[in-house]
Amino acid sequence: MKNIIVALDFETEQKTFEFLDLFNETPLYVKVGMELFYQSGPSILEEITKRGHKIFLDLKLHDIPNTVERSMRIISKHKIAMTTVHAAGGIEMMKAAKKGLGNDTLLLAVTQLTSTSQEDMNNQQNIQGTLNDSVVNYANCAMQAGCDGVICSPLEVETLKENFNDNLQYVTPGIRLDTNTKDDQKRITTPKQAKQNGSNFIVVGRPITQANDPKQAYEDIVNSWEA
Ligand code: C5P
Repeated sequence: MKNIIVALDFETEQKTFEFLDLFNETPLYVKVGMELFYQSGPSILEEITKRGHKIFLDLKLHDIPNTVERSMRIISKHKIAMTTVHAAGGIEMMKAAKKGLGNDTLLLAVTQLTSTSQEDMNNQQNIQGTLNDSVVNYANCAMQAGCDGVICSPLEVETLKENFNDNLQYVTPGIRLDTNTKDDQKRITTPKQAKQNGSNFIVVGRPITQANDPKQAYEDIVNSWEA
């Protein structure tokens, strides 16, 4: 299975399965996010697993430690490979998440969303300094809490690799081919560039799911990643 995670950001199960029908012969790594999970509930996870795909459940938990720990305990009962918390929830919260989740599923911490610009961060979150500084700080907290990896833009991976050990997994959305539109993403690279920067996994949504020919779009992303 390729380290390319396809974000299944569809509003209905029907659309999700129509999309997955195109990949019956190609086991995918897929991301189930809030939209699909809130629409379909946990049963969708079983259905996707039955079809032979691997799941990254991206619910980005951010609450008090006790609530997050208990929620992660429930999440751990499903067959999923990775899941997420927001690093902004703090070290205690991330530790609690890890405790609830256990060691069979990777816990990833979202640093700064790839739709956040430095200006947004400075003005709205009132975090001064550069985006890179904030991402390094959040990754440091995530490591201290025992997280297995972080979600960040591929643009930040090089700096993170200079600061942290190699065991941390870098999972990077914000991926576009030169021919794709940026949509609401602000900190983007191509798959090829992401790999060169040291990403372990890339997360790709609209460039594949909204394409006229999703199979071809997936192949194009694979070719860039493997170039
Ligand atoms: O459609 P697109 O390729 O922009 O989708 C990116 C996916 O990655 C979305 O599902 C989005 O929720 C997710 N994501 C992100 N930035 C983060 C964390 C997750 O874009 N920092």
